[in-house]
Amino acid sequence: MQPLTESEIRRSFINASRSETAALNLPQDLESLDWENLEQLGWRDHKMPKRGYLLAPFEGSVVGVLLRAPDIAAPKNRRVMCALCQDVKSKDEVFLYVARRAGASGRNGNSVGTLIHADFICTQSVRAEVEPSPIHPDPEVVIKERIDGLQSRTEQFIRQVLAQ
Ligand SMILES: [Zn+2]
Repeated sequence: MQPLTESEIRRSFINASRSETAALNLPQDLESLDWENLEQLGWRDHKMPKRGYLLAPFEGSVVGVLLRAPDIAAPKNRRVMCALCQDVKSKDEVFLYVARRAGASGRNGNSVGTLIHADFICTQSVRAEVEPSPIHPDPEVVIKERIDGLQSRTEQFIRQVLAQ
């Protein structure tokens, strides 16, 4: 991803009001982020923990999506898979995040829900070690496929948020 400034981040949101983007808290490690190696950037608001933000490249620019996690906790005994990275091994918490749709559709109350890692660890989980096996002789290829999958599913999610 291209590095973004604070004001570029606030301007990138497709489904948030001006007051919401003004109120959001930026990632605390913004200054030290390794942008070049991030396919996307997601974080939880450290002052509003039920709120998350996801930034990702989309059709030539970077698009931000504001997400809310409902107050009802997901059942702990049921393992759910993050729909973006589809990591089946990680034990990290997954939230059903809800995004208001962009534009008029969102103002009419429409939203899109997706299961996403609560702390947006997807760019790390796709890089998790691959056990070489006869089906996957080259771990690098597997990781590349995971990264491609993460990117295309994230684009698909953004498209759903933009759909009217
Ligand atoms: Zn994930």
